[in-house]
Amino acid sequence: MAQKSITVLGAGESGTGAAILAQKKGFKVFVSDLSEIKPFYKEQLDKYGIEWEEKHHSEERILASDEIIKSPGIPKEAPIIQKLMAQGTPIISEIEFAGRYTNARMICITGSNGKTTTTSLIYHIFKMAGMNVGLAGNIGSSLALQVAEKDYDWYVIELSSFQLDNMYDFKADIAVLMNITPDHLDRYDHEMQNYVDAKMRVIRNQTGSDAFVYWADDPIITRELKKYGLQATLYPFAEAKREDLAAWTENSDVVFDRPMAFNMELESLSLRGRHNLYNSMAAGISASIAGIKSETIRKALQTFQGVEHRLERVARVNGVDFINDSKATNVNSCWYALQSMPVKCVLILGGKDKGNDYTEIEPLVKEKCVGLVYMGLHNEKLHSFFDPMGLPVADVQSMKDAVDAAYHMAKKGEIVLLSPCCASFDLFQSYEDRGRQFKDCVKQL
Ligand code: ADP
Repeated sequence: MAQKSITVLGAGESGTGAAILAQKKGFKVFVSDLSEIKPFYKEQLDKYGIEWEEKHHSEERILASDEIIKSPGIPKEAPIIQKLMAQGTPIISEIEFAGRYTNARMICITGSNGKTTTTSLIYHIFKMAGMNVGLAGNIGSSLALQVAEKDYDWYVIELSSFQLDNMYDFKADIAVLMNITPDHLDRYDHEMQNYVDAKMRVIRNQTGSDAFVYWADDPIITRELKKYGLQATLYPFAEAKREDLAAWTENSDVVFDRPMAFNMELESLSLRGRHNLYNSMAAGISASIAGIKSETIRKALQTFQGVEHRLERVARVNGVDFINDSKATNVNSCWYALQSMPVKCVLILGGKDKGNDYTEIEPLVKEKCVGLVYMGLHNEKLHSFFDPMGLPVADVQSMKDAVDAAYHMAKKGEIVLLSPCCASFDLFQSYEDRGRQFKDCVKQL
């Protein structure tokens, strides 16, 4: 039989990992990226003798491939994808491809918010329990590279909707869905249902021996679940006790009821805020399904250090606390950040708008904010929505000016919160770059 050819589109973390795994599995591999490939990935590809091209697509060659592995960053509207789809070439994600070559058990975490925190929490519990576990997806090195080079029993995988888009046969042994709120609608034809459908793909192919962990108070998830004849065991969690729940809160405790029953004090959870309570519940249930002892789960949920750029406390300057929540790239995550503020705050927000509707945070801004700093190249929408509230506002185009303006507005005992509701790409390279610049500017005050 002729050697099957695979083209990998996009040579970042996931594309390079997929190419290496495909090469190892005996495919004829070609990598093509419309942008410049980072030197680190070029070196990796060269090391394995994989052919690659950058800054253009050799269309004829790509269209002749038997299968395509598409990096999650490439939208389906890209002309090359449209042509491949039109001629019926199978297009899969790196996770789908890697899943074909491992028997490890998979815990897959998705949702509009809380993915990285919950994924990191689960991984932390598994490590503390001494399990042979890999961390993959949007965090760390790609699943494909780990499948090529390691031999783990378990993977904890953070999945974005874009990764789920091109998954077909892959199955999560434990699927975790935190919530579904509007995000990335620009990549889903501005149709919320398309985005919802992508998220629900996390339960695809699940059987009676699998588990589905989800936030029971999410109206979209509960509505959608009715459409699926899901066989997996359900582990819903929420704050208020109900018969069907696997975890809830009662008095000052978190109660884990299924599959293993144990309690822990709310106060003892290392992560603060209501959203982090949900993340801790999802992580505790998942670990319990994997058979990890309650004592280890308790200890791990008490010692977790948090993740950078997620409600990260930076410093106190003359009595003003600075909090970096740069990862809040949509309105809902800013809602949770504001909701968890114990005192009044100055909010720094703005950036690349993804079709945001700010009405969700309007009451909290009124209740919690003493000033607003709009930081972006185009702040008109922020002005027209928030200015009528009558709060002091500033309009800035750099992090230094944002931090200076916010510091000026905040009084002793108040908080300056960077929780932008928007992507960072107008003024920064990434949300990490935005968060780091924030921390640097605060340290220079
Ligand atoms: P993701 O990986 O889904 O983007 P993160 O764990 O990185 O989520 O958290 C991003 C931001 O979203 C946090 O800074 C916080 O403000 C908010 N957030 C975290 N967990 C939740 C949750 N369970 N529900 C709603 N918002 C959350």
